[in-house]
Amino acid sequence: MQRQLHLQHEGKYFDLREIFDRLNARHFRARLRGYTVVWGRRRRQRPKEYFVFGTIQEEDRVIRINPALDQPFVPLWFLQYVMYHEMLHSVVPDEIDTSGRRRVHTEEFYRRERQYPGYYRARRWEEENLARFLR
Ligand SMILES: [Zn+2]
Repeated sequence: MQRQLHLQHEGKYFDLREIFDRLNARHFRARLRGYTVVWGRRRRQRPKEYFVFGTIQEEDRVIRINPALDQPFVPLWFLQYVMYHEMLHSVVPDEIDTSGRRRVHTEEFYRRERQYPGYYRARRWEEENLARFLR
């Protein structure tokens, strides 16, 4: 019988709960409460040109991380950055731009994202490795 992973935050290589809790304590004064962090559904096929690393659903406080990141070649510090990005959405408010569109990646968001200690390293890794997540 195959072992089922009952805890959705527990991947094969990374535990999202652990990553979330550590970041919450270190960067958010443990202010993010009641969040569920889960690996998303596995896709049968890799996407062609656009890869979504993570998402956050504020209404029910769910952060989903793409399960393609649960691989041994993915550095923990990259996954931490992905999680930090999603967590930041919960504390930086959206803005409506001049054309009436809702923006989630605001100036303030990017400013705070750049303050993350591993930001530049993570962005470089993303650039260099994106092709591995695409078809
Ligand atoms: Zn985002």
